[in-house]
Amino acid sequence: MPIPALDLKAQYATIKDEIDAAVRDVFANQSFILGPIVEGFEKEAATHLNTKHAIGVNSGSDALLLCLMAAGVGPGDEVIVPSFTFFATAGAVHRTGAKPVFCDVLADTFCIDVKDAAKRVTPKTRAIIPVDLYGQCADMEAVSQLAEKNKLTVIEDAAQSFGARRNGKMAGTFAHFGIYSFYPTKNLGGAGDGGMISTHDDALADKVRLLRTHGERPRYFNKAVGICGRIDALQAAVLRVKLKHLDKWNARRAAVAKIYDGKFSGNAKLRTPRVDAGNSHIYHQYTIVIDGEKRDAVQKSLADKGIGSTIYYPVPLHLQECFAYVGQKVGSLPVSEKLSKQVLSLPMFPELTDAQANEVAAAVLAAV
Ligand SMILES: *Cc1c(COP(=O)(O)O)cnc(C)c1O
Repeated sequence: MPIPALDLKAQYATIKDEIDAAVRDVFANQSFILGPIVEGFEKEAATHLNTKHAIGVNSGSDALLLCLMAAGVGPGDEVIVPSFTFFATAGAVHRTGAKPVFCDVLADTFCIDVKDAAKRVTPKTRAIIPVDLYGQCADMEAVSQLAEKNKLTVIEDAAQSFGARRNGKMAGTFAHFGIYSFYPTKNLGGAGDGGMISTHDDALADKVRLLRTHGERPRYFNKAVGICGRIDALQAAVLRVKLKHLDKWNARRAAVAKIYDGKFSGNAKLRTPRVDAGNSHIYHQYTIVIDGEKRDAVQKSLADKGIGSTIYYPVPLHLQECFAYVGQKVGSLPVSEKLSKQVLSLPMFPELTDAQANEVAAAVLAAV
């Protein structure tokens, strides 16, 4: 039997009745934008995350954009982002007219290298966006120290880490802002696009809420130029159902990771993800690093056996065509560049069985 990298149908099968009822409820109410279901979801998410404000928006990408806008980032400013992340982290910076400045990541946790970031701070630097990549928190204490010293706004990109913790605190709640994505493949995924912003700051929350609806307050009177950035009630309805199951699902991901870790331990040809001290990793992805230049061959060997795997991400952002203008050349961020050639994310979803995980691990070991 093939083993996909991700199987969303398997998850739907376990919660079909709850989801279908929640969706029918939205249609019965015919209130599709914001409204009581969205407010309910925002309250439940804020409680889950132990944050003061959780604001539903239309995607993780626009969540980033809204935070930058609320922080007043714009032309002439620089924002430090890790090069090894999903495109949106830097795309949002460009959209404000500010310049993304790329820094490197740590080879073992894949998260921001704060020492490298510190070297890139200039008088123009206004903000920094650490990413909790693959499901574990970045070194948020070090990020906060750097930010306080240089008066930077911190936007924690927790798009892949809803429910992860660091020293007991939830991912996305360490900084001025945290953002989440509910893209369907994320560990908390909706039935389309969706996202969220968390903040403890009343004034910043108010700004985000204003900008999320074109800056209008009251209706048809615009105080600022915002965006059309609201979350749909349909997404909120689905996400409310899924949030109730999230702890259990995240725990199962960690159990699958433990199986992989056990099978791979001691193998010199690949590296397993290191969990940073104080972190509880939710393994949005289980990503290994394969030494040398064998990664693509390993992926093909898995595919030949019907086993899915994914490369997150094949091109570091400083080498993307659209960011050539930033001027960071090949060789400038060696860890990000090397990882993009060596990482491979293995099948990871809560419904994956122990037997399947063992089969995947065996196929990897046979191929490296
Ligand atoms: C998915 C993701 C985003 C963007 O979220 P969307 O909801 O797809 O717009 C941003 N940052 C990271 C790290 C992501 O993985």
